[in-house]
Amino acid sequence: MLRYNKEDLRQMRFDMHVHTTASDGVFSPTEIVRQAQALRLTGLAITDHDTLDGLAEAQAAVKESSVSLVYGVELNCSLGPEEDAPEVHVLGYFFDLENAALNAKLRQLQEHRRLRGQKMLAVLAELGMPLDAAILNDYAESGSVGRGMIARKLVEAGYVQDKKEAFAKWLDVGKPGYVPRLHLTVAEAVQLLHGAGGLAVLAHPAQYHNDALPAQLAPFGLDGLECRHPDQPPELQPRYLQMAAQLGLAVTGGSDCHTEGLGAYTMNGEEMRELVQRWLRLPQARERKRPLWGV
Ligand SMILES: [Zn+2]
Ligand SMILES: [Zn+2]
Repeated sequence: MLRYNKEDLRQMRFDMHVHTTASDGVFSPTEIVRQAQALRLTGLAITDHDTLDGLAEAQAAVKESSVSLVYGVELNCSLGPEEDAPEVHVLGYFFDLENAALNAKLRQLQEHRRLRGQKMLAVLAELGMPLDAAILNDYAESGSVGRGMIARKLVEAGYVQDKKEAFAKWLDVGKPGYVPRLHLTVAEAVQLLHGAGGLAVLAHPAQYHNDALPAQLAPFGLDGLECRHPDQPPELQPRYLQMAAQLGLAVTGGSDCHTEGLGAYTMNGEEMRELVQRWLRLPQARERKRPLWGV
């Protein structure tokens, strides 16, 4: 267990929040692993939106590298049953890639996302902003048709200046181009991940503009809080580290990299060890092999 001393563990850097072309990132899993190797990251978690599709490729790619891979996913969840309930993201780690319930639920979410993409394009066309429907085929293949993708296409087509404007004018909840989507609740997401032998971590708490939220959601069985994230600059980190300690949650960190910034936010080996120990306490995890890096 203690193959590494404290200093070794502190030097380690794991980027635990990374997107690839399997959802709305621009780099393939293989390219991301190469970049992680060049940055000398100890490890990374590929956490695409509602899909595990990039993980097999990443697993093959890390074999050629010194980078450790953690299986990850970012589940888009809803805070309530109503259609425009705020969105909350839950990161899953260390689950069984073959778990039937997890895979079935993700397929259902992807199918819904695909139909939602078609509907969004229809609404935007009615509003005088037609986009080439062919983009849906690319997205359908990648299993991820999100508002982020549509926003990027609106920018590329010159309908808006930037993604921020795309959301503020058209895609935010209550705006004309917004189409509601099927969501998991946080409780469902935690159950799904625990059932698959994985951990559940609340992503980027600063994005919800509600510091009471982690305490509200922790009782659903959350295992960790993403304390380091680009939306939480260093001066905000003590607040989230303290929150994690008060709520008894593990600390995680990641860059949420879609285009650039891989490795800019990470967690160290001590934090990883805490996370792995929590994972080993899950009944579903006991029979499985422990992660290779031995922290
Ligand atoms: Zn997110
Ligand atoms: Zn993300």
